[in-house]
Amino acid sequence: MCKANLKRIGAGDAFFLLRCGAASPGIVGFGRVGSAPFQAPHFDPAEQAKGTVADFVQLRFDHICGSTQAPLVPRHELLQGDLVCGEWQSRSTGKLLPPQVAQALQKLVEQRSPAKDFVGADEIEPDQAPLKEGATKTVLVNAYERSAEARRRCIEHHGYACAVCDVHFELHYGSELGKGFIHVHHLKPLHVIGVDYEVDPVADLRPVCPNCHAMLHRKRGQTLSIEELRGIHQKYRMARGLD
Ligand SMILES: [Zn+2]
Ligand SMILES: [Zn+2]
Repeated sequence: MCKANLKRIGAGDAFFLLRCGAASPGIVGFGRVGSAPFQAPHFDPAEQAKGTVADFVQLRFDHICGSTQAPLVPRHELLQGDLVCGEWQSRSTGKLLPPQVAQALQKLVEQRSPAKDFVGADEIEPDQAPLKEGATKTVLVNAYERSAEARRRCIEHHGYACAVCDVHFELHYGSELGKGFIHVHHLKPLHVIGVDYEVDPVADLRPVCPNCHAMLHRKRGQTLSIEELRGIHQKYRMARGLD
């Protein structure tokens, strides 16, 4: 990452990983930046021995292709339509994409990444950086759903009952086990969020139980609205004679 871009990168920013070279080039990963830039011993052992430091940020991958897998967006697609931009010719790191290109690309990678494993916010360690070759687990919750402060303010306003099915863990499982447990869901799709976006915990977040949270995110590239899922949930409750 070059110094010039370091000032402009921050927690919550989207990033894309570009595979270069002749064999199967293209976008092979994406996610969100998980920390502000920080300095740490250089990644090159020779430099490290000299005491050199380098700039780092933590990256949280929503998806990363294995080394033998085809890219999510092959290079030839980056050179046409909404994705055209000068940065694809460059081999240096930390390039800033024009906002329209970033949004179009975000939409595409969200649609194409396999939405097979749901990972709830509570299962993600705050400083987890799952950068492993071949890791294909898709993390569907986003950075806003992982923010402790945003979560606290959401619950303060909306309470602990699931916004879809009304389950309340303390009422169902007692205070010892259930108290304080709920997931938080972010309503806005990441590809419509602009660069200057700041989460509004009351307007943008809702408490949801892990079952409903998984159902909201079940369809690849298309998150259901709370109202849609509430409608579906009610319909099947009635069909089972529960209402
Ligand atoms: Zn629920
Ligand atoms: Zn969610």
